[in-house]
Amino acid sequence: MPTDRPPRLIRLVRQPDDRGVGVFAITKDARTQYYVYCEIRCDIGGRGFAVHRLGLAELYYVRIGSPIESSCECLGFLRHGYCKHVQGLSALIGHGLL
Ligand SMILES: [Zn+2]
Repeated sequence: MPTDRPPRLIRLVRQPDDRGVGVFAITKDARTQYYVYCEIRCDIGGRGFAVHRLGLAELYYVRIGSPIESSCECLGFLRHGYCKHVQGLSALIGHGLL
């Protein structure tokens, strides 16, 4: 297995507007995908986000908190217990951007 794969980069494209809707981008292997997100109420621990990939109909609800509080509805998370949505939003929160 090659270990020199390019890292996945996430950046905040647009800060949340007055309705809480913003945009972030995930770039990997020279391809960038844009996601619209909106923080939503979460009463069960952690912070909740609705994440919608631009150009596709997929909408995921993502929860970010401690490891047991973090979850996503996508197939990647169901299969592996982590995914780019959780990792990406966690990174933005960790850097104080959200
Ligand atoms: Zn996910």
